[in-house]
Amino acid sequence: MSVIQDVIAMVKEKDVAQPEFHQAVSEVLTSLEPTVNKHPEFVKNKIYERIVIPDREIKFRVTWVDDRGEVQVNRGFRVQFNNAIGPYKGGLRFHPSVYIGIIKFLGFEQIFKNSLTTLAMGGGKGGSDFNPKGKSDAEVMRFCQAFMQELFRHIGADTDVPAGDIGVGGREIGYLYGQYKKIVSKNTSVLTGKGLEYGGSLIRPEATGYGSVYFAAEMLATRREEIQGKVAAVSGSGNVAQYTVEKLNQLGGKAITLSDSNGTVVDEAGIDEQKLAFVLDLKNNRRGRITEYAEEYKDAVYYEGKSVWDVIKEQGLKVDVAFPSATENEISAEHAQALVKNGCICLSEGANMPSTLDAISIYQENNVLYGPAKAANAGGVATSGLEMSQNAMRLSWSREEVDQRLHMIMKDIHRECLEAAEFYGHPGDYLVGANIAGFVKVANAMMAFGIV
Ligand code: NAP
Repeated sequence: MSVIQDVIAMVKEKDVAQPEFHQAVSEVLTSLEPTVNKHPEFVKNKIYERIVIPDREIKFRVTWVDDRGEVQVNRGFRVQFNNAIGPYKGGLRFHPSVYIGIIKFLGFEQIFKNSLTTLAMGGGKGGSDFNPKGKSDAEVMRFCQAFMQELFRHIGADTDVPAGDIGVGGREIGYLYGQYKKIVSKNTSVLTGKGLEYGGSLIRPEATGYGSVYFAAEMLATRREEIQGKVAAVSGSGNVAQYTVEKLNQLGGKAITLSDSNGTVVDEAGIDEQKLAFVLDLKNNRRGRITEYAEEYKDAVYYEGKSVWDVIKEQGLKVDVAFPSATENEISAEHAQALVKNGCICLSEGANMPSTLDAISIYQENNVLYGPAKAANAGGVATSGLEMSQNAMRLSWSREEVDQRLHMIMKDIHRECLEAAEFYGHPGDYLVGANIAGFVKVANAMMAFGIV
């Protein structure tokens, strides 16, 4: 058995009951197989064994009081996975499904994603099983304060710099940063995704969605295709989905779907700028459900209890390009078959691990241009890196400057993926290219440090 299969087996045996982590490790390590022969030094120094074990896993209790005066108890997590190339960096997720296996899968993926951005950032991730949905602003604030009351001792501008993820947007980052500053009495770049008034970067909210569309445009260009005129399926209706739709509109594409955990809306006329403004207000201010879109725009159809991919399968909805931007494992093999059958030629993962391993095989067998999450959605963390740079210089760059840098980074990531895929014998395979390009840089840094 190869070292790769041994390590996957070891993770399954030791990290029990963490299926999402097993899935991420299997996906990454399997595609690293071509590095084994080219780098015997990695095998000798047990780099493959070392990289799947986090530097540390921090778990803590978060106790707070709700609006009725009742005591609430949640679990908090921060996994500091690997800081070989820079401070730990990765978002915080607040969602009832969060447990250590989810945070480890996200933290593991983050190592390679951050390496691909070309910026000096290690991999980490954190969060809580707290559910912000249905909570008042005051409850969210008290929870964030209680969460930071413990997290503050583990993070720092040169140590570990968290950001947002599912359930953690501008409001939550504000409360978290406010509490951090209150405790340590320092203005530092300890969180990214901050408001513009207190150290945030222009384009950070837009960056993940914009980057995912830039990456799709690069993939399409390899086949002399472009976003202009393409019909797109977008899932989710949160931060990533919103700015995916905005960039699609700017480049002449047409997004026809959005969703949330209750259902999906299909608007075949296209979600234009004005309709998107309605969605932003609905989701970011009024915190409503996507069904309200179909109440506002009568031509749109709402499918209760269905994901975007269910609707494509069941209604035979034709799409040219797809941008899964909600959550992990949202696209099954059956969904992938339906996408292929209905004309999808390109899929760019805004969400983390939205495709099952079987779905990925189907994209590959059918020659779908497939942009894996760690490359396609790296624009968010890359722009967080740009926020850290601006904070360090005490400068703010203009919108155009940040967007231009983001665009260049996405082009560079696309090129790095293709070059690594070619060099390691899998031309055109973005998954292999992204995993290997991200891994080799981190592995070389780990080698430089000796046995630590
Ligand atoms: P968000 O603003 O909280 O939005 C998440 C969206 O996905 C919401 O519409 C949510 O619906 C839906 N969703 C979440 N969990 C779901 C589930 N289990 N089933 C169905 N729908 C679900 O989060 P986001 O920042 O856009 O993140 C979306 C994805 O992108 C995640 O995979 C995240 O890890 C990834 N990502 C985010 C960033 C970033 O910069 N924000 C960067 C890289 C990757 P409800 O409101 O009904 O829950």
